[in-house]
Amino acid sequence: KELGKNTYQFYATEMNVAHHVSHLSLENALRFAMERKQLQLVYQPQYDLLTGQLAGMECLIRWHHPELGLISPAQFIPIAEENGLIVAMGDWVLNEACHTAQQWRLAGLEVPRIAVNLSVRQFKPLLLVNQIKLALSSSGLPAHLLELEVTESVIMKRVHEAVEILRELKLLGVKLAIDDFGTGYSSLSQFKVLPLDVLKIDRSFIEGIPSDQDDVVIAETIMILARKMGMSVVAEGVETAKQMQLLQKMGCDVGQGYFFSRPLPALEMQGLLKPALSD
Ligand code: C2E
Ligand code: CA
Ligand code: CA
Ligand code: CA
Repeated sequence: KELGKNTYQFYATEMNVAHHVSHLSLENALRFAMERKQLQLVYQPQYDLLTGQLAGMECLIRWHHPELGLISPAQFIPIAEENGLIVAMGDWVLNEACHTAQQWRLAGLEVPRIAVNLSVRQFKPLLLVNQIKLALSSSGLPAHLLELEVTESVIMKRVHEAVEILRELKLLGVKLAIDDFGTGYSSLSQFKVLPLDVLKIDRSFIEGIPSDQDDVVIAETIMILARKMGMSVVAEGVETAKQMQLLQKMGCDVGQGYFFSRPLPALEMQGLLKPALSD
């Protein structure tokens, strides 16, 4: 019953989308979507596996098409990346996330870290640093509350350039996370030079836990590696109590997934926040 109400989790099918937007380029449809406020952020809570407390949240973009309903980011992000619209869209996401988080703080709520996904097209030295600086200054959100997620494959595509960008971002005081870890063929020698705070183990490894012994070993090994490098570990796609318990045992820091919560609209996310302790 509760799930039935959360219609935002059901995406329109690829066929429907392709058919509907064929007469109008998806690019135009997306531009229109941005102007018409059809884009929205949802927030997926992340929990500290030791204390059970809310530890953070990840912002995920949603496109509410008036006729098609909800279109998955997996469908429109690649197109927005191809035509470059992702830069404006990513900028919107950053600003929306920072402003929303700061509004919560101004309303007297305790706001944990808020993580935003970055596309490969945003991952350019000057562009990105300026975007981040502006989003922070115009919202007033303290930098340490913003976390930037970059996928392992984006980083590894051009490691040397990535290290430079990540270093500049670190200077701003934001937190850096490597996303979808385990899927991007990092070599360890390259990996160790990256100034990262958080490692997100890809859902594909969590899926097999605890039944698939290989996945268990891989997840455990990634956690040991991360800890030795001083990073905290987030397991994504945690769907069952069994997965959660094993991750806890392995010493995983933070869990995110349907077991805890679906991504939530801003108002529902706000409902999970506690009043800040004033002093
Ligand atoms: P991601 O960064 O790996 O995000 C996690 C995805 O897993 C989200 O899908 C989330 O809803 C889903 N998820 C969370 N918990 C569970 C679970 O327990 N089980 C399963 N099966 N899935 C779970 P979503 O929101 O459809 O986003 C898909 C991808 O689109 C994201 O993958 C990310 O790569 C991209 N994306 C989403 N929002 C943005 C954005 O604002 N900017 C950029 N550049 N990419 C975005
Ligand atoms: Ca992510
Ligand atoms: Ca991920
Ligand atoms: Ca993933």
